[in-house]
Amino acid sequence: MDALLGLPFDNSYARLPERFYARLAPTPVAAPRLVKLNEALAEQLGLDPGALASPQGVEMLAGNRVAPGSEPIALAYAGHQFGNFVPQLGDGRAILLGEVVDRDGRRRDIQLKGSGPTPFSRSGDGRAAVGSVLREYIVSEAMAALGIPTTRSLAAVTTGEPIWRDGELPGAVLTRVASSHIRVGTFQFFAARGDTEALRLLADHVIARHYPQAREVAEPYRALFQAVIARQASLVAKWLLVGFIHGVMNTDNCSIAGETIDYGPCAFMDAYNPETVFSSIDQQGRYAYAHQPGIAHWNLARFGETLLPLLAEDGDKALAIANEVLGTYRAHYVDALIGGLRRKLGLFTEEEGDAALAQDLLNAMTDGQADFTLTFRRLGEAAADPAADAEVRGLFENKPESFDAWLPRWRDRLSREPQDGASRRAAMHAVNPLYIPRNHRVELALTAAAERGDYAPFEELLTVLAKPYEERPDFAAYAEPPPEDQRVYRTFCGT
Ligand code: AMP
Ligand code: MG
Repeated sequence: MDALLGLPFDNSYARLPERFYARLAPTPVAAPRLVKLNEALAEQLGLDPGALASPQGVEMLAGNRVAPGSEPIALAYAGHQFGNFVPQLGDGRAILLGEVVDRDGRRRDIQLKGSGPTPFSRSGDGRAAVGSVLREYIVSEAMAALGIPTTRSLAAVTTGEPIWRDGELPGAVLTRVASSHIRVGTFQFFAARGDTEALRLLADHVIARHYPQAREVAEPYRALFQAVIARQASLVAKWLLVGFIHGVMNTDNCSIAGETIDYGPCAFMDAYNPETVFSSIDQQGRYAYAHQPGIAHWNLARFGETLLPLLAEDGDKALAIANEVLGTYRAHYVDALIGGLRRKLGLFTEEEGDAALAQDLLNAMTDGQADFTLTFRRLGEAAADPAADAEVRGLFENKPESFDAWLPRWRDRLSREPQDGASRRAAMHAVNPLYIPRNHRVELALTAAAERGDYAPFEELLTVLAKPYEERPDFAAYAEPPPEDQRVYRTFCGT
């Protein structure tokens, strides 16, 4: 029967030395039940959705069966958590089943999260609550549909076993797909041990897997650092452009492949405010919305430190190289952000004052407590028809005068471009989503599933978020900000 699964595993990470991971199988659970399978993703991975949904497939997704070709491992890594270095973290509740090469020739990790304790679990139980599994499923799939690099969600299985957090919660296992699960913290793990041989092996593995062009140049490790910086800068700019707040940007949650990874108490902003923090565990606001670009830079500096022994034999020279490369981060980030803001504002050309024009709109949104997503979406309507200006203005509840002062400047800027209103609206609607995973909607979906076993709200939310740029009248309510009594101010790890 196992042949039915027929997963074409090819496990490059498991071929690295034994000190990179611990080999162990997931811990079986009492009563696995498949609550969600991502059929489109399965097909993209070259897997048979029918086989995955079969009893054998579900056993694999729950960790009750190790499929042929799978070489389950928990990866070793370290990391700075809220600025404090922890020399050993590692997959405490995740197990990499193996890698497959997808239909586009891309190597992808298939990992179970919540699959039982590992040698890296410390005091944790190795499990995940159904709420946190479904949150990661919803938000990661929404990010993918928004065109933002991210890990994906292949399946969610409930375990039939309770877990204990603040109270008793149903347990679940998420099957996560990533370009890899290598983190800044993976490099830190070996750097902290002075294991330069492992660092070199890891860097070579990453270059072969994610940055093959770096192998062709004279200084491959410098090129690797440069490439990771460019991807992280682009990623964090994309987060800001949709109002996403990761919530736990520790170095162990910073993917070397440049994907959004480790969704915890993450959230999207409703009303724009750069100081927004949702995570209940982020009491200092270290990972607030507008701090994210600076934190990514800090994380990349930590990555650069681990590469020093590879960058040059002479320590001073290595440091000079690392600093020079790190110095490019800001320009990458600013370019990505300004380029994105121009598109959000419907600008086809570049002018000196564009950054200030965008910033002044953001300032007006802060003053007016305007909804971030809807402001840009409705500006797209206003671009085609000035009669829609009032719809935008209405979002600046607290201080509409701030918007009034800004609007003529935007109109003036648009007048210097030849595009007509309809094509501008189309271009703006293609980058300004109408539907994001608003926290109150996510909460409603998680509560219905976790407390009542009702997955209908979860399914409908996924349907809406799969096409974030396409207006669909049936789903009009999903575009709306939360009513006063449903506003979410804090997200809990609830892990
Ligand atoms: P996170 O903040 O979720 O990225 O997790 C940070 C570290 O804690 C990682 O090493 C996780 O594997 C570990 N961890 C989180 N939750 C658990 C758990 N329930 N059991 C064991 N380890 C965990
Ligand atoms: Mg993590």
